[in-house]
Amino acid sequence: MGKYKFIQVPKGEKISCGSDGVLRTPDQPIVAFVEGDGTGPDIWRASRHVFDAAVKHCYGGKKAVAWMEVYAGEKASKVCGEYLPMETIDAIREYEVAIKGPLTTPVGGGIRSLNVAMRQHLDLFACVRPVRHFENVPSPVKRPQDVDMVVFRENIEDVYSGMEIQAGKPETLRLIEFLGAEYGWKIRPDSGIGIKSMSEYGTKRLVRAAMRYALEKGRKSVTIVHKGNIMKFTEGAFLKWGYELVKQEFADVAVSWDDCKGEPGDKLLVKDSIADIFLQQIITRPREFDVVATMNLNGDYFSDALAAQVGGIGISPGANINYETGVSVFEATHGTAPKYANLDKVNPCSVILSGVMMFEHMGWKDVADTIVNGLVASFRAKTVTYDFHRLMEGATLLKCSEFGQAVVDHFGR
Ligand code: NAP
Repeated sequence: MGKYKFIQVPKGEKISCGSDGVLRTPDQPIVAFVEGDGTGPDIWRASRHVFDAAVKHCYGGKKAVAWMEVYAGEKASKVCGEYLPMETIDAIREYEVAIKGPLTTPVGGGIRSLNVAMRQHLDLFACVRPVRHFENVPSPVKRPQDVDMVVFRENIEDVYSGMEIQAGKPETLRLIEFLGAEYGWKIRPDSGIGIKSMSEYGTKRLVRAAMRYALEKGRKSVTIVHKGNIMKFTEGAFLKWGYELVKQEFADVAVSWDDCKGEPGDKLLVKDSIADIFLQQIITRPREFDVVATMNLNGDYFSDALAAQVGGIGISPGANINYETGVSVFEATHGTAPKYANLDKVNPCSVILSGVMMFEHMGWKDVADTIVNGLVASFRAKTVTYDFHRLMEGATLLKCSEFGQAVVDHFGR
């Protein structure tokens, strides 16, 4: 009997993380996957086919991913008797890299968000969401090609962390009384309460990750987005600590807008924007934004709003990364779309592009590039799933699995 009760560890080798935060990927790396609920299994089948074919296309038989299924969500409940078994968390921590489909989260009660729980257990402090447009992908804006941003969203703190207590519970009433007595805060007794917290530590490690990414990829600017004019000691502090970090650790390579008056020379420009005007400007002047560093809840909204401009959540990838340990979970950004489950219908691009991010993180850049080439050529040929088909003239409608095959057929074109 192995270390894990339900997980079968395949033949292969562990990925490890060097002290420089860079992954060392062996030729047969073990990579964990969660297929996901609802449409997850359809999407995972199509995506895995693309991944394996791309690795083979690049390396012949010399390298191959050893996929290891780990359980979360409805399948975990059936197989293991719980929605998020601790061995899933332990296995992802041990094997460093995982990719997952969407998981069901009930609203207003029931199980806690498995996605949030996973991020917190593994301390995956950066949620990274690149947003770019692919030619021919239908968009509601005139110039979707102007959108090319990477959102770094703090992933652990803020009201999003789930520290909430329900209205009417004795502990909630006790807290309301305490807040009244201690701070003079008048909160209605029939209120539910959530805690919004933001730490200097959490801010600085997120902004550091965004800065390093921007410098490594040669991006032009990092914008810190916040609502600090209203929430001064959380969002405002995020802004203050963000700039402080830039001065402390990146003064030789980056400069703030105030210090250079918008003329950064060959340095990386760091600026800031208040969340509401930012939401307007990413529609009216998207070219002014590049890498974005923001807090958890804001980042959730911005990422989906930006995704809408380039074709929707069906095509937006995401990664949750701890840049210090290397542990990372790449994931679909859409939900389980349960009405389409098992119809082999939905768009697998979110998981496919999350895989592109995963292969880049693993250092297999040629695999990532091969997949992107296949996607670009498939869109150029107007071979698409239903969500794009209904918005495109003269396109060919493909099933989820057929789209995966079309991507493979277009490798190298
Ligand atoms: P959803 O599953 O994302 O579906 C909403 C709509 O988005 C679908 O009806 C479909 O629109 C479109 N869509 C979603 N995925 C698509 C895909 N792969 N290809 C094409 N279109 C796609 O959102 P929801 O209905 O609000 O949530 C359902 C469940 O998913 C909930 O339990 C929620 O908590 C969970 N969820 C999980 C994650 C995650 O695991 N990361 C994220 C968000 C939500 P049309 O019907 O118009 O075609």
